[in-house]
Amino acid sequence: MKLYNTLTRKVEKFNPLKNGAVTLYTCGPTVYHFAHIGNLRNVIFNDTLRRALEISGYKVTHVMNITDVGHLVSDADEGDDKLEKGAKREGKTVWEVADFYIDAFLKHTNALNVLPPTKIVRATDAIDSQQEIIKILLKKGFVYQTQQAIYFDVTKLDDYGKLSGQKLSEKAVAVRREVVTDKDKKHPQDFALWFFTVGHFSDHQMRWDSPWGEGFPGWHLECSAIIHQELGEPIDIHTGGVDHIGTHHTNEIAQSEAAFEKPLANYWLHNEFLHQDGGKMSKSGETTITLDDVVNRGYDPLALRLFYLQSHYRSHANFTWENLTAAQNRLKDYRAMADMRFQIKPAAGDIFTSFEDFQKLTLEKIQNDLNTPEAMASISQLANDTKEVVFSTNEKEFNKFLQFIDGILGLNLLDSKDISDQQKDIITDREKARKKKDWAKSDKLRDRLKEQGIGLRDSEHGPIWYRI
Ligand SMILES: [Zn+2]
Repeated sequence: MKLYNTLTRKVEKFNPLKNGAVTLYTCGPTVYHFAHIGNLRNVIFNDTLRRALEISGYKVTHVMNITDVGHLVSDADEGDDKLEKGAKREGKTVWEVADFYIDAFLKHTNALNVLPPTKIVRATDAIDSQQEIIKILLKKGFVYQTQQAIYFDVTKLDDYGKLSGQKLSEKAVAVRREVVTDKDKKHPQDFALWFFTVGHFSDHQMRWDSPWGEGFPGWHLECSAIIHQELGEPIDIHTGGVDHIGTHHTNEIAQSEAAFEKPLANYWLHNEFLHQDGGKMSKSGETTITLDDVVNRGYDPLALRLFYLQSHYRSHANFTWENLTAAQNRLKDYRAMADMRFQIKPAAGDIFTSFEDFQKLTLEKIQNDLNTPEAMASISQLANDTKEVVFSTNEKEFNKFLQFIDGILGLNLLDSKDISDQQKDIITDREKARKKKDWAKSDKLRDRLKEQGIGLRDSEHGPIWYRI
């Protein structure tokens, strides 16, 4: 398998630390609002990676965090805590807000047929592990304390910024224009490991005791702590959105590598943004679209999943309702292909003679840095072919093939059911009417099926039904 590693800026052959097993960590959602369809693109990217690894024979241990504290409005530790802001907006406690949006997130990802991570850890359930890292970093001299917070001193590391390739001096210039709220912070890029519940944060609802004073952790710390607690360093693969490269992941690397003196992860994978009508989507914006909006407009959640898979994870994707409609139509084609398993005709021409070759080719595309668009191009070709040809292959073989596609794309093609005996009788009666050239009756029966959501196509091997 080959994957693009942000750390080396190259497509590399993937070699896990242990034969046959992969440790994978994903930065999960900040639960102060519904995930929008841009956030969900990231979820599908992770799921595709996980499926590609599993179908390649690896046993994947996938850990994801949920940020329910400490993520300030700006990733660079400025402004309010997003959860506290959400609580004010909704007149709820921060805990209620977190529980509500965690539940919504899991419902949405389930509707998108996302494999649940092996383990999900909430930041607020890993406070001890986060404090342990601060203790180690204090002992090693990587942090300093002001009245407002405990900061990681980025100048103590020679390779801070290696993930983004940005030199410290370059970025400092860019950041200096922003408002730095703590005058005792030494370098603009120093980041908070622990905020004290004083001053701006004196009303903060979430707070814990610590050897240094009551407070709450900074956002970046939870991922380092959860990785250390659940997987240990280094892990094989760490994923996230491209917006995590410059600050969040850079800071995860800094604190973990300073504390544990091992690389945090061997492969760093990042997915690109989803644009909406050509512009970037943000969670706080008015025009964000959620999965509920998609469903309320009559789309299948799996059409959205298919829409994401049509773009390579490292390219921008542009969401429009027209694009989603096209994806839904493509999904219908795939389902019509899957329904052919109920209509296999032994006498017909066989387009599945090279089934194994097809599977091999599709797998190669997926294993080439998750090239889902190319893998889907060949599946679409096949779906189109089945419109023209009634094929004969044995049903077991065809089910195996559909299982393989479901395994990599997660579109649940095998979920479709055969039509009822009554519907089959209508098709037989219509055939009889057609043979007698009783077009009126034939049309009537065809319309009756249409009312039940079943379309018919006449082929040289007889009628083929499909779902409209
Ligand atoms: Zn993270």
